[in-house]
Amino acid sequence: MHILVINCGSSSLKFQLIEMQDQVEQALAQGVVERIGGEALLTLRAGTRRIRKTAPVRKMRDALALVLEWLVSPESGGPVIPSLASIHAVGHRVVHGGEKFRSSVRINAKVMTGLEDCIDLAPIHNPANINGIQAVQEILGTEVPQIAVFDTSFHLTMPEPAWMYAIPYSLYRRHKIRRYGFHGTSCRFVSQRYRELTGRSEANTNLILFHLGNGCSVTAILGGVSVDTSMGITPLEGLVMGTRSGDVDPAVLELIADKEGMNIHEMQALLNKQSGLLGISGLTHDMRDLLEEVQENGDRRAQLAIDMFCYRARKYLGAYMVGTGGVDAIVFTGGIGENSDVIRDQILRGLLRFGIELEPEKNKAAVGGQEGRISRDGLSPEVWVIPTNEELMIARDVLRLVTT
Ligand code: ADP
Repeated sequence: MHILVINCGSSSLKFQLIEMQDQVEQALAQGVVERIGGEALLTLRAGTRRIRKTAPVRKMRDALALVLEWLVSPESGGPVIPSLASIHAVGHRVVHGGEKFRSSVRINAKVMTGLEDCIDLAPIHNPANINGIQAVQEILGTEVPQIAVFDTSFHLTMPEPAWMYAIPYSLYRRHKIRRYGFHGTSCRFVSQRYRELTGRSEANTNLILFHLGNGCSVTAILGGVSVDTSMGITPLEGLVMGTRSGDVDPAVLELIADKEGMNIHEMQALLNKQSGLLGISGLTHDMRDLLEEVQENGDRRAQLAIDMFCYRARKYLGAYMVGTGGVDAIVFTGGIGENSDVIRDQILRGLLRFGIELEPEKNKAAVGGQEGRISRDGLSPEVWVIPTNEELMIARDVLRLVTT
């Protein structure tokens, strides 16, 4: 079965075409259309064939049409698929499912209404997801099953003290203002892979999972389910990220507004797009570039950004170790978590009194997609590196829901 996995943002469309058969799970093609709304940049890949080109793309529907045209054209190499009829089902990464969507669902009119109801919670992302769903319906027809997979649903198992904000309860009752958490699809993929690698049961899966990419979060998992996570009603809360501040005293908003003459929308953009590693270093949001900058030029603020990133992660580790009463493993995933032995080492350095110590050789070796345990033999909690694959998790959900 060919499954198209789509991730629609406000001005971008990411996709993967995945073949799912008995024991085969293979990405046949993938790519991204960026800067939708103007002269868009298309980056498309199938096997060894890569294409980068620009084209005027007015809206999501046009972006999807270009991608689909490419998949069935000789330009994609095979073509990748003989015709659009070869696409059996479509899976959408949906950012916010609020309290409504506890698991992935097949999309119908009622689900679309539910997605619209969640727009208040994710005013930029959810409308883009809805556009993507409608674009698929228009181009592939309503017969092709579409599945929504939510970033938030994995965390709906959190207990109330973990998800409530200590603000007037009426705000939760009236507007559902509470913590939701994100990166849930990644958490599901990685904990499933952890079980495969260790032979543990779901009930015996007790982890603290760091997803460190451009967006960063840490999740505490007990008995296979999420019991706390660092992101909140939006992905802004928690760890220091590429361009997001993570936790700040909310009183800074009024101060910045007064001193800089900014309105609430400008401040929201400041905390989401100009803060984090980029804001502190003044150089870049990209961890690899920051590490290089420190190594080559000894840049002080690049070092400060890295130190703050690691210290915040350590603080959350401490909070979740005690909050959960202890776990069996700490797991790293995401671009930084999967590739940077230096950052993993800095986050976990000097914690032997809590049973945590890395094996330097194993830590150095676990980069570039390598998975495995990187802690010293016999210690608990163990430390693991497990690369994530959110698209594959979505494709698995699609397969399960269209075949049952
Ligand atoms: P996204 O959250 O957008 O999916 P990724 O998970 O791909 O992003 O993570 C991107 C981050 O991973 C960037 O900060 C990038 O610099 C970092 N990264 C990738 N490779 C390395 C590396 N070898 N060392 C340090 N950081 C890395």
